Amino acid sequence: MMGFSYEEIVARIKEVSNLSDAEIDSKVNGKLEQFSGLVSKEGAAHIMANELGIRLSRPAASLLKIANIVSGMQNVEVLGRVVAVYPAKAFSSNGRSGQVGSAILGDETGTIRVVFWNEEANRLGFLNRGDVIRLKGVYVKDSRNSSLELHVNSRSLVVVNPPGESVEVKERELKRRRINEIADDDSFVEVLATVIEVFDLRFFEVCPNCGKRARMQENVFVCSSHGAVAPSYSYVLNAFLDDGTGSVRTVFFGKSARQFLRREDGELLSFRLSPESFEPVKTEALGSFVKVGARVSRNEMYGRIELVANSVEQARPEDAQGAQVVAQQERVEVSPVPVAVEEGVSDGSSSGSVEESLGSESNI
Ligand SMILES: [Zn+2]
Repeated sequence: MMGFSYEEIVARIKEVSNLSDAEIDSKVNGKLEQFSGLVSKEGAAHIMANELGIRLSRPAASLLKIANIVSGMQNVEVLGRVVAVYPAKAFSSNGRSGQVGSAILGDETGTIRVVFWNEEANRLGFLNRGDVIRLKGVYVKDSRNSSLELHVNSRSLVVVNPPGESVEVKERELKRRRINEIADDDSFVEVLATVIEVFDLRFFEVCPNCGKRARMQENVFVCSSHGAVAPSYSYVLNAFLDDGTGSVRTVFFGKSARQFLRREDGELLSFRLSPESFEPVKTEALGSFVKVGARVSRNEMYGRIELVANSVEQARPEDAQGAQVVAQQERVEVSPVPVAVEEGVSDGSSSGSVEESLGSESNI
C-alpha cells in the first residue's frame, strides 16, 4: 500500500539509526507479536520507522528535477509546484474529439508544461496555483515549439499536496517580448512598455492569517484554511501597457501594484475609503515607462492574452536595447484600447483570469 518493500524500509532505518540488521529484525518481530499478526512484516517495519521518527519517502534521487528531464523519457516521476493552471477545453480535429488542458509546474531548476488529456483533464479542476503535486508515470513529449512537455495519461499518478513536501520554484528566466509577439505558449515574459491607461484600484477581503482570499458566506468572511475571519484587505489594479507593437491588459496584485504605483501598502489601503484621492496617483502612473515581468494568462472569455505582473520596475530608455518601444514623450500612436467592461475584480462567480489569480497570488 505504501509502496515500500521490507528491504527498502530496513535500509532506510539503517541509514538513519545505528541499528544492525539483527537488531532491526528483532524489533520488527517484537512489533509483529505486539500486533498479533494483524500487520504484515512491511507494516511492522513501517510502524517501527515511524516510532524512530523516520519519515519514509522516496529518496530524492528517484525524483527527476525539471531541468534534467529530456526528450523521450517514459515513466517520469517529478515533484513540483503549480505555477499556472489552464483549464480543460474541448477540441475536435480530424474526426477526433475530446478535451485537453494543462498546468505549468516549477521546481528550483525550472518550469515545464504538464498536459492533461480527456478524462485526465478533469483533474485540473482540483489544482490550484501554489499546490505542490507529485506526478508519477508521466511521459515526456516534444511540443510544437520544441520545448518539452509532460503528458499525463490514465496510468499516471497525480498526488496533490503530498504531506511534508514543499518546493521552491526557480525565479523564471523571463523572455523579453514585444507585446504583439507574446505567444500562446509563453509562460513568463518581460515587456517594456508605456502605461496608457490605469483603472481604479479595487479592494478585496483576505484572510489576515494566510493572505488567501476570504469570501462572504452567510454574512461572515470565510478563509478556506482558517474558517471565519475578520478580513484584512488587499488590492488589484488593472492597466493597459503599450509598446508600439500592441497593447496588453496587465493585472497588478498586492506587491506588484505597490511597485507599479510606487506607493506603500498603508497609503494604497487608505484609498479604499477615499477612492477620490487615488486620482492623482493614477495620473502620475500614466505615461510612465515600465519594465514588467509577468505571467502570461489567456483570458478564455475574451479570447486574448493578458499579463499578471510579478515584478515592476521603472524602465530607462537604455533598457529597450533596440526594442521598438514607445517612449514617454513620443507616445503619439497607440493601438486601440478595448473597452474596459470587465475591468477590475469580478464578483467571484466569473471564471476570468483575474478571479483565477485572486487569492492565489503569492505576492499579495
Ligand atoms: Zn487563512
